[in-house]
This record gives sequence, C-alpha cells and structure tokens, in this order.
Amino acid sequence: MSGRPAIAERVRELLAGIPADVAVLAAAKTRTASEIAAAIEGGIRLVGQNYVQEAQRTVDLLGRDAAEWRLIGHLQRNKVKAAVRLFDAIETVDSLRLAEAIDREAAKLDRVMPILIEVNSAREPQKAGVLPEETIDLARAIAPLRSVRIEGLMTMGPLVKDPEEIRPHFAETKRLFDELAVLRIPRIEMRILSMGMSDSYPVAIEEGATIVRLGTVLFGPRSP
Ligand SMILES: *Cc1c(COP(=O)(O)O)cnc(C)c1O
Repeated sequence: MSGRPAIAERVRELLAGIPADVAVLAAAKTRTASEIAAAIEGGIRLVGQNYVQEAQRTVDLLGRDAAEWRLIGHLQRNKVKAAVRLFDAIETVDSLRLAEAIDREAAKLDRVMPILIEVNSAREPQKAGVLPEETIDLARAIAPLRSVRIEGLMTMGPLVKDPEEIRPHFAETKRLFDELAVLRIPRIEMRILSMGMSDSYPVAIEEGATIVRLGTVLFGPRSP
C-alpha cells in the first residue's frame, strides 16, 4: 500500500480529479523521505510538515528545491528561528506575538516570510487558531510587519464523522477571506485559502479552498 509506485500512482489519480486552480499539499507527518519523494514524483509540489525537526530531516534528504515546504503544525516560539530558516511558508500564525517573532528572524535573513493566519473556525476551546471575530483585527496588526507577508487563511475545522458538518466552518472562513480581500489592507494579499483534509476536501473545494492538505488519501493510513 505504501510502496513508492503505489503512492505516485495514487497521487496522479487524485490530482486528475482536482480542479486546476486548487493545489494539493501533501501532509507528510510520519512519512518517510522516500514516501514523500514518491508523492513528488506523482506531481505534488507542496509538502506540509507539522514539526520543525521532522521537516529538517526530510529537507536534508530530498533537498530544498524538491518541493515548496510549508509548516502546517503549531509553531512554538522557541522553534521560530529554525522554522524561518527551513520553511517557504508558515500556515499557522494565530497571534501577533508569533508573527513578530517570525518577522524578527526573517528580517535577520533579509527575507519576507509568507504566512497564513490560522482561524479556529469552529471556536473549539483547546484548538490553535484565532477566533473568527478576531481575525480581521489580527490581520491589521500583523500587516505593517515588514518581514512577513499575509497571503491568506488556513483552518483545520472540527473532527467530525460527516464532512457536511464542517461545511459551515469552511464557509465562514471563506467569508472572512473575502471580507479581508475587499478591505484591501496594505501589504496583505489574499490569495490562499488552505482548508480540507482527506475526509473533507471535496466540501472544502466547494467552499472555495485554494489549497487542500491531504495525508491519508495520498499515502495510506498512518501507523498508530
Ligand atoms: C495531518 C494533517 C492533515 C491531513 O490529514 P489527513 O486526514 O491524513 O488527510 C492536514 N492538515 C494538517 C494540519 C494535518 O496535521
């Protein structure tokens, strides 16, 4: 199931059914470099990692230019320095403090780090992400930072049995995305809406996702 040819083939089949304006990010936690290489062989251009160390190992093995490397897991502030050196984009910014820390490290490297604001679209108490009603204020606060650039929003959505239950949360995130776009806040360019996973990506695409983050449907089930 998880051999290289099987993964590459599964990726090709899946990509064939995805609209051309939606990008598929391979959510690669727990996968080997060889499995990730197979997904890239099948046509994947974006690879998402949850942990800095795990990502570092993969990037060392496959090379920086093998894919666009995106952080999709929660970023602890003591890992910001390493993350800014490693990733092409950070999808999980949910506070001004975190954005400021990224901004400082990116400035040292003389680069601008593309970021997404992570929205806690289901208002789950233990979940990362900014609340929907606080998202626009956070975007306004981050926008002036010179070494980060907001490119859109990301959301996880609640873990539910029926993907239809996630639809309202995806729809609300899309409404926020559109609202931010029309506000035309200087230096914010709303072009990425990252939402939808293996069980929910068709719904996310219907609700306007431009990136879907897929693990299980590309690589097979994760070992526990
Ligand atoms: C694991 C993960 C995914 C993909 O999960 P699957 O259900 O395996 O597709 C997407 N986004 C994030 C942030 C993840 O951690």
